[in-house]
Amino acid sequence: MAFDYDLFVIGGGSGGVRAARIAAGEHGAKVALAEEYRMGGTCVIRGCVPKKLMVFASSYRGAMADARAYGWDVTAGGFDWTAFRAKFDAELDRLEHAYRAGLDGAGVTVHDCRAVVDDAHTVRLATGEAVTAKHILVATGGRPSVPDMAARAGAMTSNDIFKMESLPKSVLIVGGGFIACEFACILNGMGVEVTQYYRGEQILRGFDGEARGHIAELMRESGVNLHLGTDVLEMKATDGGTWVKSTDGREAVYEKVVYATGRVPNTEGLGLEATGVKLGRKGEVVVDEWSQTAVPSIFAVGDVTDRINLTPVAIREGHAFADTIFGAKPTKADHELVASAVFTQPEFGTVGMTEEAARDARPIDVYATSFRPMQSAFAGRADRVMMKLIVCAETRKVLGCHIVAPGAGEMIQLAAIAIKMGATKEDFDRTVAVHPVMAEELVTLRKPVRTA
Ligand code: NDP
Repeated sequence: MAFDYDLFVIGGGSGGVRAARIAAGEHGAKVALAEEYRMGGTCVIRGCVPKKLMVFASSYRGAMADARAYGWDVTAGGFDWTAFRAKFDAELDRLEHAYRAGLDGAGVTVHDCRAVVDDAHTVRLATGEAVTAKHILVATGGRPSVPDMAARAGAMTSNDIFKMESLPKSVLIVGGGFIACEFACILNGMGVEVTQYYRGEQILRGFDGEARGHIAELMRESGVNLHLGTDVLEMKATDGGTWVKSTDGREAVYEKVVYATGRVPNTEGLGLEATGVKLGRKGEVVVDEWSQTAVPSIFAVGDVTDRINLTPVAIREGHAFADTIFGAKPTKADHELVASAVFTQPEFGTVGMTEEAARDARPIDVYATSFRPMQSAFAGRADRVMMKLIVCAETRKVLGCHIVAPGAGEMIQLAAIAIKMGATKEDFDRTVAVHPVMAEELVTLRKPVRTA
């Protein structure tokens, strides 16, 4: 049977765009891609990139205070959100065009509309047109999930933060994951009065326990009003914002309430189940290690599969799919030892096992240090850096590395190379320090602080 295309990709985010570009540009496949919103997906339009620009914007208040401590005669006026927004929007437009140009350059046909799956080889566009393809790739990503009570009261999500017309005076952030903690720090840095509720015992569940405690402490010290073991009991829109009653009985009005209570895969109404594709409990597309679904011609990559929901992972999955199917180069995406960074202030960089997970699995030695870094200590700030290596007591391999420090995202990328190569603690020790930098502590950790 002759198909219109070799590959039809649904979704123009990190995973879908990479797969389309590699399949068409490097392997010569005939490819089409449909995107119902803006090209670039969550990462470029309403996630990593705009978030990081906001992290930069919010960091200057502290930087200016430090500059004064170093002798500079500077005074910070207020933060001008409107001026920032104009540049910010222009930058996102530029990136969106770059994504589009990349697809055009690779010869991919782009449809600016929603597409759903009709059968194993047919996609139906919102225009009503049916298009056939030998392979279909679902790369539709995810979206914020908000409890009904919060949606009824008009709570915002991370998507809305990027589109705010003005900065609120006060905000309540609900949740304790990546997104909640990052926006708590960003908005606090921009001068917003930030309260954060997390229902559990400590923020950033799943990460290294000591790092979580350290970050929570620094967030509080920097001005975030963080309440643990606290959730919203009732809320309603009121004059001047949202009235909120919390589980600890407190009542307050916040100008804005942001829910960052997790994300769900975008599979609703895509026609997948009727075609035979299996979905999991959260609605995620169930795939094997080749990103193949229960229907052999349909594949899925990225957040819609709810494996490791990070842009670089989606890109690897999309690339591996294209090499396997169109490049005669069978490749599985590698999900082991994926490093990541949480852009709290200070940042958190992490790779490998947490102390908690490692000590349940085998005997370990824990090497850790906490110190005041030179730059902020001179400026009179009380911030402390934390660095920690989890080492297998038998093989001496470094199983995990956790860093809370300015620039931890940059540091962890490099530490991850050594750890991915199987470096031992002694390999770290053999490496001569770079002086004077914070990261030198990673190669000068002498004695374990604990064995377990
Ligand atoms: P997470 O799943 O990480 O966090 C959700 C948070 O909301 C948790 O603290 C959870 O609590 C809490 N929660 C869930 N449901 C409710 C509820 N009904 N009421 C109150 N609290 C609730 O999701 P995020 O949205 O923060 O992030 C989604 C994913 O996006 C991340 O896992 C990550 O993969 C990715 N991401 C990566 C970033 C990066 O690399 N820097 C940045 C941002 C996102 P509990 O712990 O008790 O379940």
